[in-house]
Amino acid sequence: MEAAGKRLLLVAACALVDADGRVLLAQRPEGKTLAGMWEFPGGKVELGETPEETVVRELREEIGIETKVACLAPLTFASHSYETFHLLMPLFVCRRFWGTAHPREGQMLKWVRPRQMRDYPMPPADEPLIPFLIDLL
Ligand code: C5P
Repeated sequence: MEAAGKRLLLVAACALVDADGRVLLAQRPEGKTLAGMWEFPGGKVELGETPEETVVRELREEIGIETKVACLAPLTFASHSYETFHLLMPLFVCRRFWGTAHPREGQMLKWVRPRQMRDYPMPPADEPLIPFLIDLL
């Protein structure tokens, strides 16, 4: 897909919320673009998947968390133009999940209160999503 000459990239992300209202952030590991930035877990939507199915798969693969499509509520959408592509990224909220988050791909994980998220450098697509979580939580 292309928009205004740029490749469109569809990524689905999730704000996992624990019983204390904290949200899980994952630090992008060395060797990836935007290494060191803190993001909402998620990943690229693969052909044949819905964004919700992507979130369920990525949470399992990246951090060992199990959830279900029915446990994901859409919150908002990020739309950000990077230099070489345009990113569209729905953000889901998930309060019902199973397991304990642990890094499976060497990334750091942190449970953070929405008001403290500004202390964590985030990719430019993710940062505008913070106020929505502050309003919700
Ligand atoms: O995680 P992955 O490298 O597959 O993501 C593709 C691109 O999407 C990243 O290079 C990054 O620019 C962007 N991205 C983002 N925020 C996220 C996940 C990905 O801006 N939470």
